Amino acid sequence: MPLSKGYATQNAQSPLAPFSFSRREPGATEIVVEILYCGVCHSDLHMARNEWGQSVYPMVPGHEIVGRVTGVGGAVKKFKAGDIAAIGVIVDSCRKCAPCGRGEEHFCHEGSTLTYAAKDRVDGSTTMGGYSNNYVVDERFAHTVPANLDLSAVAPLLCAGITTYSPLRHWKVGPGKKVGIVGLGGLGHMALKFAHSFGAHVVQFTTSPKKREDALRLGANEVVVSTDAEAMKAHANSFDFILDAVSAPHSLDAYLELLKQDATLTLVGLPDTPPSFGIFNLITRRASIAGSMIGGMVETQEMLDYCGKHNITSDVEVIPIQKINEAFARLLKQDVKYRFVIDMSSLK
Ligand code: NAP
Ligand code: ZN
Ligand code: ZN
Repeated sequence: MPLSKGYATQNAQSPLAPFSFSRREPGATEIVVEILYCGVCHSDLHMARNEWGQSVYPMVPGHEIVGRVTGVGGAVKKFKAGDIAAIGVIVDSCRKCAPCGRGEEHFCHEGSTLTYAAKDRVDGSTTMGGYSNNYVVDERFAHTVPANLDLSAVAPLLCAGITTYSPLRHWKVGPGKKVGIVGLGGLGHMALKFAHSFGAHVVQFTTSPKKREDALRLGANEVVVSTDAEAMKAHANSFDFILDAVSAPHSLDAYLELLKQDATLTLVGLPDTPPSFGIFNLITRRASIAGSMIGGMVETQEMLDYCGKHNITSDVEVIPIQKINEAFARLLKQDVKYRFVIDMSSLK
């Protein structure tokens, strides 16, 4: 493989800047993907700034990847050169444990391999993500993309999409259920689209009053500005399920009070400090607080196929890679509608 190009950060403070690195030759079951688009997830920002304390530098972030297959190993069955392929948050796992056997590689007992800043299981190198011109991955960890969908708007499905689709399916969100989505960002707007598509009554919670019209357009039946205590109170004890996709530290109490008896508040947002809550808000309604992480390869493909069938994609602002540092800064100001996606043809 010739040297790969991308944008990397060298430490928790430095901006992303052009960077060259090597990728291994594809093995028998691996493919080479020339990256067309890569979404910008808030996790990329948490990781670039080492907010979870697990970062490795230099780091090329990016785990919402769509591209064209340019090379295939001799035993590859799912792809041929010229096909479109998509890669998400994990690129390998032990492939032997019980969750791997079920296609739930994200729950691999040995730990799955993340798309960037992780130890590659094949050659021990550090994985480099999708803010780059190409990726080498086993076909098991790459997905086919429905032909009817716009590729730039598909990229965010690989993380924001599956991370919200999976818990909404697991907790059986559908007709007759009242469901809350907290935070209208990259994950939140996909959660809203899916919950609406699954037939639930969906209430969007936001700290940004200016997002109200967008939330209604994206499928919300109701929008509540979460700083309005009266508006919050009007929904007390009424929700079957709430999905929290907020990227910053916050209290869960205001949302626990909205749950029905035996209902669940599921966290997908990963602020650098855990959210706080009062135990009385749990015991007085036998409520559960749960968590959920992306999804396995089987469910990710199911989600993509569902999106193809129902014409669901992300609302994106496509940017050249030279604007990535500006995009990070705007993410922190809640100024994105509703996912930045890098057009990789801008990478020279
Ligand atoms: P994002 O696009 O930046 O959206 C986050 C949203 O949270 C904002 O749009 C905002 O919504 C709300 N928010 C931000 N600051 C807030 C504050 N101080 N108080 C209350 N609300 C606030 O981020 P994202 O890419 O959707 O990611 C969201 C979180 O999920 C991140 O922590 C990310 O790391 C995590 N994540 C987890 C998984 C997983 O597998 N569990 C996968 C991907 C990402 P409003 O303006 O509507 O209030
Ligand atoms: Zn992500
Ligand atoms: Zn495993």
